[in-house]
Amino acid sequence: MQTDSHVYAYSAVLMGSPILLKLYEHNEALAGQVFRLIKQYENVLTVNREHSEVMAINHAAGQHPVSVSQPVFRLIERALAVSLLPESSFNLAIGPLVKCWKIGFQGKSVPARAEIQAKLALTHPENIELDAANRSVFLKQAGMEIDLGAIAKGYIADRVQAFLHEQGVDSALINLGGNVQTLGAPPDAPQEGWAIGLKKPFAASDALLGVINVTNKSVVTSGIYERYFEQEGVCYHHILDRHTGYPLDNALLSVTIVSDHSIDGDIFTTLIYGMGIEKGSDYLKAYPGIEAIFVTRDKRIICSSQRHFDFTLLDHSFRYITGSTDVKVRDTQAGDGNDKPDDLSHRNECS
Ligand code: ADP
Ligand code: MG
Repeated sequence: MQTDSHVYAYSAVLMGSPILLKLYEHNEALAGQVFRLIKQYENVLTVNREHSEVMAINHAAGQHPVSVSQPVFRLIERALAVSLLPESSFNLAIGPLVKCWKIGFQGKSVPARAEIQAKLALTHPENIELDAANRSVFLKQAGMEIDLGAIAKGYIADRVQAFLHEQGVDSALINLGGNVQTLGAPPDAPQEGWAIGLKKPFAASDALLGVINVTNKSVVTSGIYERYFEQEGVCYHHILDRHTGYPLDNALLSVTIVSDHSIDGDIFTTLIYGMGIEKGSDYLKAYPGIEAIFVTRDKRIICSSQRHFDFTLLDHSFRYITGSTDVKVRDTQAGDGNDKPDDLSHRNECS
């Protein structure tokens, strides 16, 4: 526990990520409850251990449906719906590919092309059968695996926010390794709101491109610099293209989503990352409560719109562009997320 004026920061490592909780009262018991809550959700949702509710579904792939608890069923239902959207780059059935790439874990290396092809055949979300009456999930093909890595932290951040709210807290921030959810504004900055750093890709961990100020909002960033490895000059990161089986390759280094619900932030970072700047900004026009901040390889920071946050640029080697109606934002590099994996070596660099 650290104190900085009257902010109390509590930290832990959960879900393989550093977790930070900021409160405006010294309340270790409450912080303990928050960390236990996160752990409980991690225990049922993880696929990085042998046993969890999601692993029970995966172990029974091709054999039988598995009944799960209400929150797990609901989350899978949501993740499946997003995966079945037209042209969605989000796929909860991506598990076999995530396991074979092992990005962010020991023993990572570029899998053989044939292996990727074989795993791709096991990643069709259409082969997931849900039965709401029994709250059961059936993976129809043996070898299929659900992976909720792109949605779980957002879901949990919202649960923490709701829990703190129930406890009568009206100023707090929870950061689940890049998934930030907030309650109200800090009492010492009621106008400015929370100051959330936008990290500089592939730089020292405390290097910031800028600061995003929000009140009662979630700020979720997904970037290719978070978990990756380099082999023969090519950067392989952890957001996979569901069609090729290789890391998504486009002009983006990161996408940040500002929204009310962190689950939306988590879903939309993956969806929008796949769409790129133009398509992504267009897509968001139908969602007035959800906004994106793109960071590009050619050093631009581009907002789809800027209604629910303030932004202060700190690194002036980057250009800040707001995508208000008269600014036409374009992906200047050829990549729009639809490139062949062979093109990876040209642009996918770890810098
Ligand atoms: P993080 O916050 O850990 O960076 P993200 O929200 O960016 O996570 O999601 C990345 C994780 O989601 C990967 O580590 C993997 O478990 C899973 N994943 C990778 N590619 C996809 C995809 N196309 N659709 C859904 N989940 C994915
Ligand atoms: Mg995500």
